[in-house]
Amino acid sequence: MTQHFQAVRGMNDLLPDSIHEWEFLEDTLRSWLASYGYRQLRTPLLEPTGLFTRSIGEVTDIVEKEMYSFTDSLNGEALTLRPEATASSVRAVLQHNLLYPGPQRLWYIGPMFRHERPQKGRYRQFHQCGVEAMGYAGPDIDAELILMTARLWKVLDLPAVELHLNTIGAPEARLRHRERLIAHFEQHQEVLDEDAKRRLYTNPLRILDSKNPAMQALVEAAPKLADDLDDASRVHFETLQNILTHAGISFNLNHRLVRGLDYYNATVFEWVTQDLGAQGTICGGGRYDGLIPQLGGKPTPAAGFAMGLERLLALRQDKNGAMTPIPPDVYLACSGEGVMGFALEVAERLRDQNCKVVFHAGGGSFKSQLKRADGSGAAVCIIVGETEAQARQVSCKPLRGQGEQETLDLELMLGRIPSLVVRTAV
Ligand code: ATP
Ligand code: MG
Repeated sequence: MTQHFQAVRGMNDLLPDSIHEWEFLEDTLRSWLASYGYRQLRTPLLEPTGLFTRSIGEVTDIVEKEMYSFTDSLNGEALTLRPEATASSVRAVLQHNLLYPGPQRLWYIGPMFRHERPQKGRYRQFHQCGVEAMGYAGPDIDAELILMTARLWKVLDLPAVELHLNTIGAPEARLRHRERLIAHFEQHQEVLDEDAKRRLYTNPLRILDSKNPAMQALVEAAPKLADDLDDASRVHFETLQNILTHAGISFNLNHRLVRGLDYYNATVFEWVTQDLGAQGTICGGGRYDGLIPQLGGKPTPAAGFAMGLERLLALRQDKNGAMTPIPPDVYLACSGEGVMGFALEVAERLRDQNCKVVFHAGGGSFKSQLKRADGSGAAVCIIVGETEAQARQVSCKPLRGQGEQETLDLELMLGRIPSLVVRTAV
């Protein structure tokens, strides 16, 4: 016997029974983003590997161990399935000169790929929706990004999510801080784990991100970037905090929040929930003023965020339970010699009236068709047999409400559609 193929580990099929949750979320995202004037950008899933190593940084989890990279056997090109979409967005914006007329508010949605250990809320193919505001320097846009996410949590009726906020300053401030961090950690080599030792001289800032309990005291005692902060970043951060306070958004100042990608500077933030265990970050973002020039563009400030859609959906379900799918309005049953043409015409006429119609394909007895009709959840079954077809009539059988089956002229039935598809009982 041939063995069935299985999906790649950590990559999920989204099955029809849960797809309405995704569609609801996607529709909500689209109208929410439009209400802030953001426009969608769609980029390829595959990009040159160098795009990610250059932007995300060589000594990051993503580039060190999470990327699906391979060599194109036909031309030797190094390619990578995108692990995130900020780099791709900047690449596209530069390639098409989108910043020429002025700043751009952009968004994207789609699958990302990271070779991680699969667990609840952590997959190898997962979905992000993200926003990139390019060409904006001020804390006003940082505030907009945070305000808009806060609104989304309300629209989605999510349980409590907390905002964690930090500034990681300008590159020069980070360099000063970096020297002080190295000096601090060098004095305590014996406490450092393998990851930390490896990062000590390449990316000591990331040691602050460590979740290793044995290193927590050392990390707590590390020099704070706040003490090395440059004036511009300090003012920027204070203004942002004032706007947020004015808007009634509460936040936790978290000086250990550094984010896992190299391209951030100044403002960084994460939205975190207690309800999803270890995978509690549903959204992360910040400013990346250095990325556009690093990828070959003119110096252009920018900021953005990305959120994980699987985690958003899990959080909604935890609170609200599973959503019920929206059933069809009409199930169309038909049987008999020469009725097919008329039955299909009836189905099309119903759709002209915005009815959702499931046509019974494949024949079978009326009894079995009615069973299917009932199982479909439709409000009404419209039946076309030989007698009906000859007289251009249909029989209507309410499935979810009171009322008897009745036979009507097609035109009369179409006129009555609004009352026919009403569900009076479930
Ligand atoms: P984490 O600390 O959970 O690994 P991250 O810092 O790597 O997250 P980002 O690169 O900032 O995550 O991505 C933004 C969001 O995308 C995350 O906050 C999370 O909601 C989601 N996300 C990231 N990696 C995964 C994954 N492997 N599976 C599902 N969602 C993910
Ligand atoms: Mg990660």
